[in-house]
Amino acid sequence: MSDDILIKAKGLSVGFQIGSSIFNKQVLKAVDNVSIEIEKGSFFGLVGESGSGKTTLGRALLKAVPITGGGAHYSDGEVAYDLETIGKEDLKDYRKRAQLIFQDPYAALSPRMTVRDIIAEPLEVMGLTKNRTETDERVREIAAKCRLNLEHLRRFPHAFSGGQRQRISIARALVSAPKFIVADESVAALDVSIQADVLNLLKQIQAEMGLTFMFISHDLSVVAHTCDHVAVMYLGRLVETAPTRDLFNSPKHPYTKALFSAIPSLDPDDRGKAQKLEGEIPSPTNQPTGCKFHTRCPHAIDICKSKEPQLEKAAKGHEVSCHRWKELMDLVPA
Ligand code: SF4
Repeated sequence: MSDDILIKAKGLSVGFQIGSSIFNKQVLKAVDNVSIEIEKGSFFGLVGESGSGKTTLGRALLKAVPITGGGAHYSDGEVAYDLETIGKEDLKDYRKRAQLIFQDPYAALSPRMTVRDIIAEPLEVMGLTKNRTETDERVREIAAKCRLNLEHLRRFPHAFSGGQRQRISIARALVSAPKFIVADESVAALDVSIQADVLNLLKQIQAEMGLTFMFISHDLSVVAHTCDHVAVMYLGRLVETAPTRDLFNSPKHPYTKALFSAIPSLDPDDRGKAQKLEGEIPSPTNQPTGCKFHTRCPHAIDICKSKEPQLEKAAKGHEVSCHRWKELMDLVPA
């Protein structure tokens, strides 16, 4: 694996068994055969509708859900782990290096703990500091990085706005000095004006601490502002992946194009041109044959129903899985 890559997933799958009796047991394929590489110090975006498997993929890379097929390799220059087989002791170490920022800053923080205790908890649980003085020093340092005042540390979460609470969540995730952060819809619950503030803070922290982010979002305008590289997921599969500018200038998969055309435009001439995404994402327990998107794709032909397309190179760093992407580039304006 190249020294520039922090995480490399190869054919990674996550399946959950549902149903209790032998007659109704089913496997829910939440993530299916996904291969990605996340460069050190990058902001890697993961987009898709609700139910596309992006949250499960993020949690598999944190080893918060079991990997049931394929694997993922983590290497930060100090340590290297195969996440599918990582042992108990190594997993304790990995927990310091890989952290999650939750979506909902209201639900994520215990109302009974002060901000100081919330931020300090991972240090104490993981035994990362020797005494209270050292813990307090680290808490103050990380609170300042997240633009929290020292007097905030004595208060309880209910005294803060959504943006401030999210900064507390970020401080808690950063306190163990991780290398890899999964930010799962981390600004989705915030007002638009606050979103920009939190996104700028994340970018600033990334640059200062040299962190690598996986940024999970259903909001493509947020991803465009934040990420270097984007992967698009549909029903547990990767359908397109590219550097952000390339993906936004020249999306190739019909699903990616439909997601883009759903972004509200300020140009009145563009309104009404949106390529609507009809219907619901199918159930992961009853997936379509062939291309998983064929039940909603306006360009589906017979082969799409029987043969699953594989990711193929469309440009440098740009891959797409669609039988017809080349001919559709001429037919459908991006
Ligand atoms: Fe649509 Fe067929 Fe391409 Fe799937 S393979 S996205 S159904 S055109």
